[in-house]
Amino acid sequence: MIDRLSALVIAITIIAIGAIISIIYGSNAASITIMSLAALLAACTLYSSTPSELYEPTNAVYSDHVRARKIGSIFHHPDFSNWADQEREPIIGISNNVVMIANDAAVALLGRHIMGADIRTAIRHPAAAELLRPSSTPLLAGSHAQADPVSLMDYPRTGFHWTIRIARLSGNDAIVLLNDRSSIDAADRMRSDFVANASHELRTPLAAILGYVETLQDMGDNSDPMQQRFLGIIEREAQRMQQLVLDLLSISRVEADRFRRPTTPVNLTAIVASAVHQLQDSAEPRPADIISHLPDHRLPIMGDTGQLSQLAHNIIGNAMKYGRAGTPIHVHLTQEGRRAILKVSDQGNGIPPDHLPRLTERFYRVDDARNRSIGGTGLGLAIVKHIAERHQGQLSIESIVNHGTTVSISLPLINEDVPTTPASP
Ligand code: ADP
Repeated sequence: MIDRLSALVIAITIIAIGAIISIIYGSNAASITIMSLAALLAACTLYSSTPSELYEPTNAVYSDHVRARKIGSIFHHPDFSNWADQEREPIIGISNNVVMIANDAAVALLGRHIMGADIRTAIRHPAAAELLRPSSTPLLAGSHAQADPVSLMDYPRTGFHWTIRIARLSGNDAIVLLNDRSSIDAADRMRSDFVANASHELRTPLAAILGYVETLQDMGDNSDPMQQRFLGIIEREAQRMQQLVLDLLSISRVEADRFRRPTTPVNLTAIVASAVHQLQDSAEPRPADIISHLPDHRLPIMGDTGQLSQLAHNIIGNAMKYGRAGTPIHVHLTQEGRRAILKVSDQGNGIPPDHLPRLTERFYRVDDARNRSIGGTGLGLAIVKHIAERHQGQLSIESIVNHGTTVSISLPLINEDVPTTPASP
């Protein structure tokens, strides 16, 4: 195949040669035939040429690989390069992980030398390398799954945060989209820091209030029932506020860490067992209703022990609060394929379906007045969701009104002597 410009040159040359020959022969039938043949040959040459010059990009940088090989690829379409140039975030077209095209923003971030290079060496971040590893992603299989952004913490420098997303195209082509989240993160951090600082400051006066209430209750004249009632109300409300402060501190801590994957291997079986024992020994209502079904082997995951314990406490605690007294609370921990599944089910009033999608919103309660009186802050499931996300887990809540609720968390296991069982259907 030859390109349009070369074809034009060849066609003009053919016609010129035809004209010279026909001049030599003079004006007779042979010269007319020669000219006609030359014109036909020129037309064929032009027709068979490739339209590459029409698809020349505007500003987007193309690698030689594109020119050499990617004829007809979306990367070569003028609309693609026009779109890529207009985007402020870096956009990179890759084929078999080789950089084919990069827009201005990508060249500014990564340098012009990335053209024709392997995208993993161009981006140089463990999370990006993992995402783009052919065996770990369905890129080479041409799958269209996995479009969720993946965080690149401390990229391109410490303290910065970008995300990477891969849009898969046909064959081995894909578009890599990078997004700078650093400023959004900074604003989020300021908000979380403010909530954390305010909550921390409230802890000291609250501890003083509770201390003095206790002292007043213990000392002297207990005969005044009105006074005792008021002291009881102050104590209960201060305790509720203390729980709110603790939950606010927890959620701001979890939020601050949400893009930092835990790097310590922990045993989920031991963490859930310890949470169950603590709740069975606690002063919470219905400790005797908890029935645990835990495996007798380790379930190793990358995790934060404190946060996973809080996750278990929150969902078992909810089952204790919202389940009917005297009915069992089942805590199941199982292994399904390469994931650990924690399932807590209760027999209670259940949750109407239209409330289910909103349960993990902060301060969302199904029955505000009732749940407030039970002692809920409305933050428990929001904390659970953030902890699950940080651990690459999935939270699901199923409920049947007047029957009960099951909360499930699935967490990815790591390779560490875990007996592999087939995934349940
Ligand atoms: P709270 O501290 O109020 O319990 P959560 O965030 O833990 O807050 O839960 C949000 C709301 O979801 C609760 O107020 C309650 O209405 C509902 N809920 C959570 N778990 C259950 C459950 N096991 N059974 C019934 N309702 C539940």
